[in-house]
Amino acid sequence: MAGVTLNEVKKRFGAFEVIHGASLEVNDGEFIVFVGPSGCGKSTLLRMIAGLEDISGGEIGIGGKVVNDVEPADRGTAMVFQSYALYPHMNVRQNLSFGLRMNGNPREDTERRVRHAAEILRITELLDRRPRQLSGGQRQRVAIGRAIVREPEVFLFDEPLSNLDAELRVQMRVEIAKLHAELGTTMIYVTHDQTEAMTLADRIVVLRDGRIEQIGRPLDLYDDPANRFVAGFLGSPK
Ligand code: ADP
Ligand code: MG
Repeated sequence: MAGVTLNEVKKRFGAFEVIHGASLEVNDGEFIVFVGPSGCGKSTLLRMIAGLEDISGGEIGIGGKVVNDVEPADRGTAMVFQSYALYPHMNVRQNLSFGLRMNGNPREDTERRVRHAAEILRITELLDRRPRQLSGGQRQRVAIGRAIVREPEVFLFDEPLSNLDAELRVQMRVEIAKLHAELGTTMIYVTHDQTEAMTLADRIVVLRDGRIEQIGRPLDLYDDPANRFVAGFLGSPK
């Protein structure tokens, strides 16, 4: 397991700065939720932590080590996206094992990890199906499974449930909470869903225009938002 440190992290696209110096200490095993309006920089921050996006200034640390120059595959992170991005021509087992096989992971260990992920997500009976033979919720489980088999130190979720209908969203939210309880891994989770933020987070980070507006435990933020913007985001009466 590993904590994550952001130290004055900045991001520019050309001349346009979209993250203006974000600092944050995520504790080992903590569940952090990023909320904020569309375009405020949530995905960009997550992608920088994953190493999918260069950083323009500052430092990112994982497990106490600066990872600015570390390749995405070596950061100990695994990301789950809103779009499931499964390989349509592969069955579930192959979708789960593909990345590990590409990295030359030993076959027995790969099979063990796939079995374990399938058990955790209760998709063992779906391993021989193709993605098109799965429901939306099942597809998203497979997408999460692909992150689990990497045995990451940090899970990064970018609005993983926003394509699902309301009922499934509730169900998968409970699954993700269970996953965190079971694995105890650090998780950073982006959502614009108030209920997800309030129920999943150890701490919520409210972002606005590329800046961290407020950080706090859900009920503390709800009861004592710094301003109307934060209150609006958490649905607090203030
Ligand atoms: P969020 O996930 O909070 O909706 P993003 O992180 O996707 O926001 O985007 C933050 C800002 O950066 C937005 O203004 C967006 O238009 C801009 N942006 C994101 N990716 C790029 C890119 N590859 N090139 C230029 N601008 C980008
Ligand atoms: Mg986004």
